[in-house]
Amino acid sequence: MGENDEIPHISEDEVIEKAEGTSQKTDREKVLEELKAKVNKAVEEAPVEIYYREYGATREELITALEEQEQMKRLAPDAMVTLEAPPIRPGEIVIQNQAYYRDLVKMGRRKVYEANSVSIDEELIEQETDHIVNHELAHADVALEDPPLNVGYGIRFFRAVEYPELLMQSFLTYDGTLTVERRQRMSGAPSDGHSISDKIKSKTLQTDNS
Ligand SMILES: [Zn+2]
Repeated sequence: MGENDEIPHISEDEVIEKAEGTSQKTDREKVLEELKAKVNKAVEEAPVEIYYREYGATREELITALEEQEQMKRLAPDAMVTLEAPPIRPGEIVIQNQAYYRDLVKMGRRKVYEANSVSIDEELIEQETDHIVNHELAHADVALEDPPLNVGYGIRFFRAVEYPELLMQSFLTYDGTLTVERRQRMSGAPSDGHSISDKIKSKTLQTDNS
């Protein structure tokens, strides 16, 4: 710094304003930074999965969905079932705060484009993010009915055996006890009807157990 450099005068009000602005920003930014680090780690750890593109599901997911479907069939609609959130696996990020889910999904979509060297189309990312978040929140609405379940908001990265590119899925985890009727309503909640079990019903699933 030269002798003639002026030290700019900052009023007290300005200092307070800046400090407040910074601290508000910092809380959210801190969370977003942490999420970003988690997303990067999850991408690095993304497992290779057997992926059935026609179902939009991994083999693991299909097996779980089939098992649950079988279990539900044997129970009356008013029977109680307990759901437990599975442990978080490599490639997955699950958050408890719904307010940050949109940020997480958006980061995830962006990461997929980056990892696959596809040019970033901001508008497309916004659209995809809205679609994914609206879908999962429709499930969550039922999960949060009284008495509410504990809901985890997740994304998962993986690479399919057949394709080298990075793929991403969204999912929710649930902890709590509910009726079979509500469990089924929760699975079928989104109006765009992605529900894996619906797809399974309409097709013969062939899995190889080798
Ligand atoms: Zn769904």
